[in-house]
Amino acid sequence: MELKNELVGTCCGLVTEATGSTYTVVSDDGRAFRSRTYPGTKSENEDTSLVAVGDRVELKITETGTELFEAVITLVKHRYSALTRKRDIRRNRSKEKIQVIAANIDQLVVVVSAFDPPLSTRLVDRYLVFAESEQLDVLIVVNKMDLADTPLTEELMEPYERLGYSVLYTTANDPGTLKLLREALTGKLSAFSGHSGVGKSTLINLLFGQKQLKTRRTNLKTGKGVHTTSNSAMLALPGGGYVIDTPGIREFNLSDITRENLRFYFREFLEFMPECAFSSCSHTQEPECGVQRAVDAGGIDPARYESYLALYCTLE
Ligand code: GDP
Ligand code: ZN
Repeated sequence: MELKNELVGTCCGLVTEATGSTYTVVSDDGRAFRSRTYPGTKSENEDTSLVAVGDRVELKITETGTELFEAVITLVKHRYSALTRKRDIRRNRSKEKIQVIAANIDQLVVVVSAFDPPLSTRLVDRYLVFAESEQLDVLIVVNKMDLADTPLTEELMEPYERLGYSVLYTTANDPGTLKLLREALTGKLSAFSGHSGVGKSTLINLLFGQKQLKTRRTNLKTGKGVHTTSNSAMLALPGGGYVIDTPGIREFNLSDITRENLRFYFREFLEFMPECAFSSCSHTQEPECGVQRAVDAGGIDPARYESYLALYCTLE
């Protein structure tokens, strides 16, 4: 594709939606551009997905109609974080393509439910390992508090608050808790994750209202030659900030976590690791292990340590 002659200008913006070959970019002054890449599009990132939702890009504006602005993406700026998934290319199984599903996420919102399905701290730990490995801030949302034994739930979550993770207790139809959730999301780029049935869709519907969600679905439909699974969009919060609602993020796996690096993703271990006799200590069975000693002495929560052992066993 050649650039049109009558370039109208340049600007910077944020990719808020990807529909196959077309991207919606919201410029810093608030205009929405329907944008495409072209062979001359440059990137400050390694050779993964060229453009992903959450990317900061530079645009050359090609057309400014009254209803729609059009532009080409000239530069994709450096991503400071990327949520990825590996996608098998069916025809050639030996080749795995890394697909960036969201860039520059500030915060991973880990949604669990207090009851139905029951609260599983093992599962929380799994999500936290992922977040730590991606160096993402975390907000833990414990939903369905209306069904919960509140003191028991708070007792289960207390170790996380002590570790410095933010924990929010919500009931979807309680406006007060929803307000707190909205505040925790304001000004940030957040991604929701969590098992099915915990209430993610309910919370997102309440945060944004059916109208905005419906509009998004219609827009996505008009994209040409699109595989629905590669669609990805961010929903704008009224007070600033975005929530990315991408099914792929909800189902991420721990494919980059190994037995060797798992220990770094339990943040409370770090303080005690220097006390281990072996620098390569896995903290599972070695003698003179600082981490095991801290578990015995009450410096590390035993349930967290058990989560570590359980995860360790599932890894290679
Ligand atoms: P998702 O799979 O995580 O998106 O979960 P959904 O949003 O589809 O919710 C699963 C079920 O839980 C639905 O029947 C919701 O109505 C219900 N639900 C969601 N939030 C709450 C809550 O705070 N309290 C109760 N009691 N039910 C909830
Ligand atoms: Zn050790």
